[in-house]
Amino acid sequence: MVNKQTSLLIVDDNIDNLRSLAAILRLEGYKVRKAISGQVALETVRSHPPDLILLDIKMPQMDGYTVCSILKEDTTTCSIPIIFLSALNETADKLKAFAVGGVDYITKPFQAPEVVARVENQLRLQRLSQQLVVQNAQLLEEIQIRQQTEAALHQAVEQAEAANRAKSVFLANMSHELRSPLTGILGYAQLLQKDTDCTPLQHKGLSVIYQCGSHLLMLINDILDLSKIEAQKLKLFPDYIDFYLFLNNLVELFKFKAQEKKLQFVYFKLTSLPPEIYIDEKRLRQVLINLLSNAIKFTCQGSVTLKVSVRSCSYESNEYKLISSKLTGKAKKLFAKIRFEIEDTGIGIIPEKWENIFLPFEQVMERSHSPEGTGLGLTISQKILALMGSEIFLESCPNLGSKFWFDLDVYTPLSWADFNEIDDSQSQTLSQELGDESDQIINTLSPETEVVVPPLAELLLLYEAAQMGDVQNVQQQILRLQQLNSDYLAFVTQVLELANDFDYQDILKLIDKYYGDNVSLLRL
Ligand code: ADP
Repeated sequence: MVNKQTSLLIVDDNIDNLRSLAAILRLEGYKVRKAISGQVALETVRSHPPDLILLDIKMPQMDGYTVCSILKEDTTTCSIPIIFLSALNETADKLKAFAVGGVDYITKPFQAPEVVARVENQLRLQRLSQQLVVQNAQLLEEIQIRQQTEAALHQAVEQAEAANRAKSVFLANMSHELRSPLTGILGYAQLLQKDTDCTPLQHKGLSVIYQCGSHLLMLINDILDLSKIEAQKLKLFPDYIDFYLFLNNLVELFKFKAQEKKLQFVYFKLTSLPPEIYIDEKRLRQVLINLLSNAIKFTCQGSVTLKVSVRSCSYESNEYKLISSKLTGKAKKLFAKIRFEIEDTGIGIIPEKWENIFLPFEQVMERSHSPEGTGLGLTISQKILALMGSEIFLESCPNLGSKFWFDLDVYTPLSWADFNEIDDSQSQTLSQELGDESDQIINTLSPETEVVVPPLAELLLLYEAAQMGDVQNVQQQILRLQQLNSDYLAFVTQVLELANDFDYQDILKLIDKYYGDNVSLLRL
């Protein structure tokens, strides 16, 4: 439909042409103006720009091409579509018309329907391109607004992070300041508790002071750690540590703690372990102590188990060493993936709480019913492990127990690889060798304990009893071996633990492990 306001300008030096064209277009409802020369056309366009121009090419003084070029150079008139009118039908002329900025071309003598169709077509295109310009402008405006919003958001996030860091720094400083006087209070409470002149009431009071102070100190230490982590101030200080000694000390500590609660503490070394690992000892100990303490805290009967194993080993290229390798032939670092598993037979955690308990101050039970604790241990452990490039996993069943585990990628001495004959060219996955857990060879003794194994002949009856699955006989054989020589204690303890769990296949495997192929002698 023609917009009544749409104005057209026809430029032609031939009055008849002007009239006939004007008549055709007025019939269609357009407002039509006429110009008899190029010069007049330019003046009219500048004073009242039309929506479209029909421009004759051949005119005296100033031809259509010149008029078109002038209009296209002027920013106020350049977007007006121009349709050329001419009797010329040469391709070169048409090309020139388009080259100077024309949008279409009508050949004289005019056919009314063609003129109308071409004009309408150009006006529609003009409208569309105007819409496009408007939409483009809107889009640009939207982009600009979005960019501004994003910049504001970015700034707000930066400010919030800075505020958060400032809060963490403040908390870290405050916690530090609070710790010193608190140690004084705890020290004096302990001293006064030893004073025999104190009345029972005073003793009770001192014990309350000590307990409350200890809890406060624990809370302050946890807040200090957490705020250090959040302020990105917690740094790891890895070094090569004696892994056997580290585990041994941990096991001794938790054996004692478990005994206090009449729980069994079991340590399984599921695979051969490297004697040294490169790790921040203090922080690894902190994580394990937290998980093992929780296991003991939330278990009333049964056992708490720590399992440690090497899941895989691989050599990792090191750029610096790679250069030296040309000289020394040693271009690699040995990388071991060590898994730590902490299991208990305690109260367990319902699945809906599995995620929450890693959030600060989240405890499954009401605080008043919860055994001592700050609700920060798991948050800190998770963050420390994240700093070490690891994550913590949980499986738990209410009333049956929980299992937390994590894998750590650590460097170990190359000599361990030689000892374990790990192939230089490949990554060896020990877990695959281990197969499923029931097939694992279990050594529950501390790594340093020298295991004296009874001679093969002495193991015949035990082997047979285990093969038969004869409970009573296995127990008798264990007792016999124990009485035979006290040096066999370490070995007997291993067998006993397996027998207690009715793992007779593992007893056979244990004997296989020590005697290898010679075990076939027992089978004769
Ligand atoms: P805390 O032990 O000081 O309360 P944690 O962050 O270490 O804080 O643990 C958060 C909560 O997760 C505990 O309060 C407890 O409800 C739950 N939880 C952690 N470990 C165990 C576990 N082994 N068995 C059952 N619940 C656990």
